[in-house]
Amino acid sequence: MSKTVIVTGGSKGIGSAIVKLLAEERYNIVLNYNKSESEAKKIQKEFTEKGYIVEIFKADVSKREEVKKLVDFAIEKFKKIDVLINNAGITQTKLFTDITEKDWNTMMNVNLNSVFYMSQEVISYMIKQKEGLIINISSIWALTGSSCEVHYSVAKAGVDAMTKSLAKELGPSNIRVNSIAPGIIDTDMNKHLSEKEIKNIEEEIPLEKIGKTYDIAKCVKWLIEDEYTTGQIISINGGWNI
Ligand code: NAP
Repeated sequence: MSKTVIVTGGSKGIGSAIVKLLAEERYNIVLNYNKSESEAKKIQKEFTEKGYIVEIFKADVSKREEVKKLVDFAIEKFKKIDVLINNAGITQTKLFTDITEKDWNTMMNVNLNSVFYMSQEVISYMIKQKEGLIINISSIWALTGSSCEVHYSVAKAGVDAMTKSLAKELGPSNIRVNSIAPGIIDTDMNKHLSEKEIKNIEEEIPLEKIGKTYDIAKCVKWLIEDEYTTGQIISINGGWNI
């Protein structure tokens, strides 16, 4: 029986690359989106026509009640949840002194609390199954810190701490928890950067290029196939931080 995978923020960027690769690997996919409905529907149509299984569900994962509905939807469709990929996220570039309380809370709600809500909702099913995998997409900034992205870095560091702590707590239930910490990946999240800024960043990276969404998707696929990796923060950043 195919494994069921929920991908939050699966409509665009890294999330959509994960959805596409795993659908082609014959996993049952629940693609969560919030604002990008047309992108989500396009992926569903294209992949369903090819014979793959992609269900879509709109939910703002920063809200507990919507997360609950998303998880109920996945269970109703596929009866089980084998893998949760907490990928949904936002970014904001601001001086620390300019970050408002609203900015701070929005960042924590979307990038950190969503991981708490999603994980809590799926874990009860995984514990019953005595098997499960949670993959959190964190960030290089959680490891290094980042000027003008303090709230983002703090939220992602919280995600990594959750990864390690949950891995310890859930290991005996055969549930693995890992983070993937990307460097700079070519998505809309970085569209505010000019060509020159990207070039300057690439000069700092040993592999001399920014990453592609597929680089992250391949690691997700590997983690699903693996059986003995847990509690790890896997850096995929071209050697930018070693
Ligand atoms: P992206 O292209 O901007 O996509 C972000 C995704 O998150 C979208 O699919 C969006 O869905 C979803 N999302 C945002 N808020 C949501 C909410 N409240 N509820 C549900 N979904 C929500 O960004 P990306 O680069 O692919 O980022 C994916 C993850 O990788 C994020 O967690 C990000 O922090 C992390 N990351 C990215 C980079 C990078 O360089 N790109 C580096 C390190 C870490 P809708 O459009 O449907 O709302």
